[in-house]
Amino acid sequence: MKIIMLGAPGAGKGTQSERIGAKYGLPQISTGDIFRANLSAGTELGMKAKTYMDAGELVPDELTCDLVVDRISKDDCANGYILDGFPRTLAQADLLTKVLAESGDKVDFAVNVDVPDENIIARMSGRRVCGKCGKPYHIVNMPPKVEGICDNCGGELIQRKDDLAETVKNRLTVYHDQTQPLIDYYDAKGCLVTVDGTKDIDEVFADIIAALEA
Ligand code: ADP
Ligand code: AMP
Repeated sequence: MKIIMLGAPGAGKGTQSERIGAKYGLPQISTGDIFRANLSAGTELGMKAKTYMDAGELVPDELTCDLVVDRISKDDCANGYILDGFPRTLAQADLLTKVLAESGDKVDFAVNVDVPDENIIARMSGRRVCGKCGKPYHIVNMPPKVEGICDNCGGELIQRKDDLAETVKNRLTVYHDQTQPLIDYYDAKGCLVTVDGTKDIDEVFADIIAALEA
């Protein structure tokens, strides 16, 4: 099963894709996590991506597409995967369609986690992520068992630089301009599933599973 996650920044794509991945034994591939890991490791890709990420802009397609094509060709993706944060532009979506079609394949589900802008800013100000494994938390909605420490790997929880309110506003503008059109793109392909992302985390997950198994 090949799933892509759509939705505004902070809609809950990472939270839900981690759970979907655990349920079906599929790798969760987050382009944002890949860029952040490169940044921590001080690679050239990380350095190039940093300027765009800090400003809340998209990293150019030429830096993004190759790494995804390479990642989904790995052995652990043979039975499918969940793309969290890719595609984010029509050019990225077209490329993914083309690459999959070369092996007679396609995206099975595009899961759109729908959350209005007014809910996003509050969510993002409370988001904390593990500096080591990237798992997302929320200081109110999804706190870790021990404050400041990741349940998964014991890493330290940090606030992302691009979760500051001003940057979040720009990320929302970029989302509406460049990523939202993908909802119609995947609807036209007949694989769009939209869930109400304002419900609590367990309910959103149950709605997604119900749609995938309908
Ligand atoms: P995205 O990957 O779409 O940017 P995340 O999964 O990181 O979003 O979620 C953003 C923030 O909102 C996190 O702090 C997360 O704990 C919280 N969150 C996710 N889903 C919900 C939900 N359904 N209700 C309330 N808070 C949520
Ligand atoms: P995320 O962790 O998904 O919120 O992504 C954080 C940041 O990484 C985004 O604001 C972009 O700057 C960059 N990024 C992640 N995925 C993509 C993508 N598919 N295309 C372009 N930029 C991306």
